[in-house]
Amino acid sequence: MPLPRGLPVVDHHCHLSLAGEGVLAARRFRHAGGTHLFLATQNYGPTVPRQLEDYAHQFETTFALADRVRREVGIEVFAVVAPYPIDLVTASAQLGLPRALDLHRAATDLAGRAVQEGKAVAIGEVGRAHFPVAPEVSAAIEAAFTYALAVAREVGCPVVVHSADLDASGYVELSVRAHDARLPAERVVKHYARARVAPEERAGVVPSYLGRKDLIDQVLADPSPWFLETDYLDDPARPGAVLDLATVPRRARWIADRGTAAAERLFVPFVESVEKVYGLRLEAPPRSGA
Ligand SMILES: [Zn+2]
Repeated sequence: MPLPRGLPVVDHHCHLSLAGEGVLAARRFRHAGGTHLFLATQNYGPTVPRQLEDYAHQFETTFALADRVRREVGIEVFAVVAPYPIDLVTASAQLGLPRALDLHRAATDLAGRAVQEGKAVAIGEVGRAHFPVAPEVSAAIEAAFTYALAVAREVGCPVVVHSADLDASGYVELSVRAHDARLPAERVVKHYARARVAPEERAGVVPSYLGRKDLIDQVLADPSPWFLETDYLDDPARPGAVLDLATVPRRARWIADRGTAAAERLFVPFVESVEKVYGLRLEAPPRSGA
């Protein structure tokens, strides 16, 4: 079965690297039927940023990659930028905790400005380490997260949260944090969600589900908002560490093969949710039949 007319096919979280496949991976995504990518920034160099210029350069690299994909592959790309929360672990050892936290906040301001300038659509990844860290580093990471929520509220954009796996209480806790920052929970996205949590148990926080078949089966009937992602890493040293960038379009076809009713559900992650959380109206470009 072909995909429904007008359906965009959206990977809500991926990374592209200069050392990896880069534009070629985006081309594979398009050939599989993909139309829109949310591209999250990352450290492109071997070291964690130590000064604000390093972050400026990192974000500019993400915007340049997004531009290249738009021009050379012909799909839409939305950039998501922020200093990675785990940078604080390394940076605090090198710079001392106060300076590392100052740098992190300044880089978050930079991300907020990029959103205001229309270069990025969200602040991310922000949040927590997914592994245990020393209590004082953990406190700095929490302070940085609070700051990121405030910046997102100020510039009026969503945050994309990196964290360990969350159960219902984890979603509720995130919602409380957002509420304290006066950021609507609907603007808080838990990325790399690996287990379904029922919509009524998430306190408004939005899951971006990993595009595994079993997970998609469980969430397909859920109301918006929720997303699908690969978290593609484009790291040649870790092939197969995450889902391939062609996965979301392949899954979309796999769902569409079940018939019209199932295929129509794909408008939930790819259109309704993007509009609710980002205020973006996505449309699929005409398909060439390829
Ligand atoms: Zn990521």
